[in-house]
Amino acid sequence: MTTILAVANQKGGVAKTTTVASLGAALAASGRRVLVVDLDPQGSLTFSLGHNPDKLTASVHEVLTAALPVGEAILSTDDGVDLLPATIDLAGAEALLLMRPGREYTLKRALAPVLNDYDVVLLDCPPSLGVLTLNGLTAATAVLIPLQCETLAHRGVGQLLTTVEEVRQITNPDLQLLGALATLFDARTTHSRDVLADVSGQYDIPVVAPPIPRTVRFAEASASGTSVIAGRKNKGAEAYRELARNLDAHWTDGAALRTYDGE
Ligand code: ADP
Ligand code: MG
Repeated sequence: MTTILAVANQKGGVAKTTTVASLGAALAASGRRVLVVDLDPQGSLTFSLGHNPDKLTASVHEVLTAALPVGEAILSTDDGVDLLPATIDLAGAEALLLMRPGREYTLKRALAPVLNDYDVVLLDCPPSLGVLTLNGLTAATAVLIPLQCETLAHRGVGQLLTTVEEVRQITNPDLQLLGALATLFDARTTHSRDVLADVSGQYDIPVVAPPIPRTVRFAEASASGTSVIAGRKNKGAEAYRELARNLDAHWTDGAALRTYDGE
């Protein structure tokens, strides 16, 4: 069965897109067939995987709103993952979808014909809890919440967990909450660890191992639109490879998910 992981947090800048690109590339490098889906009208994932959103005529927008067969919009990338790209047109999809019955199921239905072609599908959710994120959570089998460890501004987490709970009750009873992923983590300071302990204590959610360290290479990669982790030897890429091994063992062999306890 295909695992569909939504990477969601309504806060921007918490490394959702970086996580989808890097985790996707790491899973692909270990032989998994991976599709990544850009659900953000900003198209950062599309851009970071080497495609220019401004030059695309077929994207997730046409798939969701004009019933374009998903296979006609999927692109290949140098990172070994397939990409369902986004363009700025997706900003208008929200309004179009709102008028539809069963609007939360649109992505799930659209992806169904290609699921057999992939082991893992990663959904890069936009920074909001609108219809696109609800589509992501409804299509997903699991959800991972990246949390930026630099600030104490985690008030939105409660709201996100409430949304996950509502999705479970209404559109997707089987949705599994994997937990939080610590991003932009600085192990040298106790601050990052305090923030994490605070979040996992307050919301009672597991923190998936390992934390992703802050590294300057990521900022460079996303700015230049070049490959994310392929061939890169840095702590961030290594952490995403370890995350990929952790998740893969969980999904393929049913191993318990390794969590981070702050040590
Ligand atoms: P989101 O999709 O949640 O808005 P992004 O993945 O776009 O977040 O990341 C926000 C910014 O942080 C980007 O400039 C990205 O390059 C940078 N970034 C993400 N992860 C790291 C990291 N581990 N180290 C350094 N910079 C990072
Ligand atoms: Mg993003």
